[in-house]
Formats: sequence, structure tokens, C-alpha cells
Amino acid sequence: MPRFECTKCGKEFPFDSALTRCTSCGEPLEVKYEFASPEIHKSEFLLEKYRDFLPFSRPNKALSLGEGFTPLLRLKKLGEMLGLHNLYAKNETMNPTWSFKDRGTICGIQYALDSGYSEVGTVSTGNMGASVAAYGSRAGMRTHILVSSSIELEKVIPISVYGAHVVKVEGDYGKLYYESLRVGEELGICFINSDHPLRIEGSKTIAFEICEQMSFEPPDWVIVPTSSGGNFRGIVKGFIEFRDLGLIDRLPRFIVVQAAGCCPIAQAFREGKEEIRHFGRPKTIAHGISNPYPPSGNEVLRILRRLHGIALTVNDEEIIKAQLLLAREVIFAQPAGAVPIAALDELVSKGIIDRNDTVVCVITGAGLKYLHSVRQVSHEITTIPFEQLSSALSNARPSGS
Ligand SMILES: *Cc1c(COP(=O)(O)O)cnc(C)c1O
Ligand SMILES: [Zn+2]
Repeated sequence: MPRFECTKCGKEFPFDSALTRCTSCGEPLEVKYEFASPEIHKSEFLLEKYRDFLPFSRPNKALSLGEGFTPLLRLKKLGEMLGLHNLYAKNETMNPTWSFKDRGTICGIQYALDSGYSEVGTVSTGNMGASVAAYGSRAGMRTHILVSSSIELEKVIPISVYGAHVVKVEGDYGKLYYESLRVGEELGICFINSDHPLRIEGSKTIAFEICEQMSFEPPDWVIVPTSSGGNFRGIVKGFIEFRDLGLIDRLPRFIVVQAAGCCPIAQAFREGKEEIRHFGRPKTIAHGISNPYPPSGNEVLRILRRLHGIALTVNDEEIIKAQLLLAREVIFAQPAGAVPIAALDELVSKGIIDRNDTVVCVITGAGLKYLHSVRQVSHEITTIPFEQLSSALSNARPSGS
């Protein structure tokens, strides 16, 4: 039987307790297993394929929207530009609602149903809201999405289009994570928030897939855009489980990237602190990674210290540049999804990453929902009179050809 265990103090809780945080120390829980020679199965359903590594006795394929199984792309041009010979992107924009969140959401929904819930919810103004709305609707569950009252139209539409119950909440949005857990317990709503232990289980399948796609020869580095810390924890947990089970023989080194305008984890890391502090007012275009008080921040710091990881920041200008470069290669990521690419320059020039190292950037979410940051590309488009079509096209050819 799987169980929950506190990431800090090790206290254990039963799997059906529906807890997400330790009742003693308040830190996040994770799922622990007694693995009995698990196997990777042949299936096009993520929860079936990795069922021996996940806590579901009967995964329900009807809940699936086709999450996971995303490509690992070699970035040849970008690699050459940066002098990196083995640069890869794990393209999580290919998920059903265009971000990695779908992996964790299906795990959360399966868990909620297995635990007897008929209602689910989440707190999110971005991709997680869209993901839970879509999967909740698919599962036929009453689905509540709590968004910030200042949410823009461009952001709320991709959530509300799925037909979930969307509520704009005024007041301290940061405290809503904890308040939703409390109200959920009171009303019997399973809140699958950013670092819910079952989300971590979903994110670990990113690591599993990377291992398989690299023929179980793990990369030297894995770079992850990080906000709450849930996805990072899951990816690390996946590599650790495969290593402990002998499927790979070593771990990659892990790099957390945050936006300079909201970097509570990178700041605490730089200052050698054991706990994060509330960052104040986030100011970055990378909204997907702008949680000023990440609920798994302390656990991310513990992991970085334990595994000799690194945390660093990139600014908005670097992020937009990375978005445009990545689009040329050809993944259209949202700002938050492109931050690993933005970090490469510094990592290479400081000699942290060697030119021959194998590097996997996790590209967490797609750009189509967030067109604003790269609107400059539209300025390069010229308008011509109908009659000048031929000359316009030939003039656009590189000279000499
Ligand atoms: C949610 C999200 C992140 C941050 O993931 P955490 O698990 O909160 O650290 C990064 N990028 C994108 C695109 C996201 O949607
Ligand atoms: Zn604890």
C-alpha cells in the first residue's frame, strides 16, 4: 500500500487521509511505495503505462485526454549558437491543455475519484486552472476554479471555456492556497493545488519519459522553470525512483530557474537560507512562475542542497529573447516555459555546464494563450499592393540565390 510521508520530518499518513501537508510541521507530503519489481507496460494511457510506479489500482482510461508522451526534441540550431552539442527540449506544450499540468491533474482526478470525492477544485489564474477545468469536465465532476479577481480576459477564457465553476476571489490571493484546503476539507471538495502529492506523481512521469527517450542513459543536466516547486519535485522524484530501482545508474544534476521579478527560491538559495521568505509583489511577464510564496519552496531548497543542484534567475528581456529563439527551433513556449533556454547563456559562460554535457530543458507550457510578450514579431510584417506580389517575394530572397 502506498502512504504519504512528510518531506521534512518523515511523519507518515495513510494514503486515504486526503492530506496534502504534514499535520506536525506543515511541510508538503509525498507518496511513498513498497515497489515489488515494477515494470513499464505497453499502453498509450499514461497511468496504465506506469501503473507499477503509481498509486492507482485501477486507472480509468475514460478520464484521459491523451496527456504525456511528449517529444524530446534535439535543439540543434540553438545548441550550435550556444556551443552546446547535446541540447534537448522536453516539449510539454504538447499536452491536451498545453502545459505539463495535465500529468498532475489526471493523477489528482483519479485519486479524488478513488477516494470517493465527486467535486474537485484548484487555485490558479493560469494553466492549472485550465487543466483542472478540462479534466474535471471530462470526469463529470463538479469543478471549482478559484482565480484572482484581477485576472485578465485573455487568461480567464481558456479556463472558463471548459464549463467549470469559476470564481473570482478578492483579497490575498497568496493565502487562498491554504484557505482552499481548509474549505475543501469542510465541504468535501478535493483541491488539487500546485504541489498536491498526486501532482508530484504526475510530474515524475516527465522524468520517466526522458529516461526512456534517452535509452536509460540520463542527461547530465535537467533545467526546470519553477514556481510552487511541485513540478521540480516530481521530476527529481522520478529520476530518484528509477535510480533506486536500477533502471538508470546515476542522477542528472538539477537546475531551478526563476524570473528575477519573482524568485523566492533562487534568493533563499543564493543567501544559503533553509527557508524561503515571501517575495513581495511579483513583477515579471512569466506569470506561470510568479508565486511569491511557493508552498514547496523549502522542499526545493532541501533537494537542491542534498543533490548539489543550482537555482538561478533570468530577467524578462532574456525570457522574451529565449521565447523567440525557441520558436525558431520550433516550439512556441509561453514566457514561463522558455526560462530554461534563457538561463543557458549564463550556465555555459560561467562554465557550470560543459559544452559536451547533455542538457534537457523542460519547456513547461505553450505560448498561444499568452501572445502579448512576443507581439513585436508582428512589426516585421510588411504590407504590399496586390500588383507587387512577385517583386516582394523575389526581393525577400537572400541576395545571390
Ligand atoms: C505551473 C507552471 C510552472 C511552474 O510549476 P510549479 O510546479 O508551480 O513549480 C512553470 N511553467 C508553466 C508553463 C506552468 O504552467
Ligand atoms: Zn512534517
